Amino acid sequence: MIIGHKEQQEKIRSLFEKNEIPHALLFSGPGAVGKKTTAFWFLKMISCEGRDKPCGECRSCYEIEENIHLDILQVFPEEKEIRLKQIEEIIERISYKGAKSCYKGVVIDEAHLMNVQSQNALLKTLEEPSKDTVIILVTEHPYSLLPTILSRMFEIKFSLVSEKEIGKSLKSNEIADLSFGKPGLAINYLQFPEKKKRAENLKKEMNGMFEKDFSFRFSLIKKATDEEKGEEFLECLLKAMQIEMHKRIKEKKETKDFLQAIKEAEEAIFLLSKTNINVRLALEKIAIKI
Ligand SMILES: [Zn+2]
Repeated sequence: MIIGHKEQQEKIRSLFEKNEIPHALLFSGPGAVGKKTTAFWFLKMISCEGRDKPCGECRSCYEIEENIHLDILQVFPEEKEIRLKQIEEIIERISYKGAKSCYKGVVIDEAHLMNVQSQNALLKTLEEPSKDTVIILVTEHPYSLLPTILSRMFEIKFSLVSEKEIGKSLKSNEIADLSFGKPGLAINYLQFPEKKKRAENLKKEMNGMFEKDFSFRFSLIKKATDEEKGEEFLECLLKAMQIEMHKRIKEKKETKDFLQAIKEAEEAIFLLSKTNINVRLALEKIAIKI
């Protein structure tokens, strides 16, 4: 299910209908908003054997949904890295003639985690594109990709989805409230009530945090990291900081340090996706500035 992103879907559909499908696409934007779901929707559409594409009922749509389609491949990071051998394997597989459909599709998830060797190997394939292959890079951090890769991609940008739209689609405003505009997160809360409970507790704990001194914030950070919820805390903190920032601007308060803290939180989230940084240390550095 894709929640939101109507504009992006229309753009992709029009490329398909005009028979102008790019051989390399970049789906960029925040995490858990539906980039990968849209990538598979697109691959279903170009491989669909039904009339209203994607029909969701034909063999091809079914096999893509079940992740058993022989011509649709996925690459995931292993231990926060996409290694050369993974890309080489994919390149080899797409060099064969398609098993069933006229298109072969590759989705590289968290593409920013390709190391330089992997990116260079992929670049060679992008330089000599095969017209029956579509490669989709999905990433939150496109600026981590080589400019030579970026220049060969057709970019579709994704953004956060309004909480109203998420609430309407999932018939739960309560869950939408906790989702930060990320439908993937909302669906996760719907499927796993214990995760929803945790998010609710975190939100409650953060209430009034900016009015209190940093010993209070440090105790929250200690509790969260002791319970191994540092990453969730950081995401939640960033969202709370963005809301607080708007408030401070409205009230014409000094925001320089606060803005710096927001930048540090964004950077920490990025670093966490690539490496094993010390979350507690990163959070404490931010907590001093807010
Ligand atoms: Zn179909």
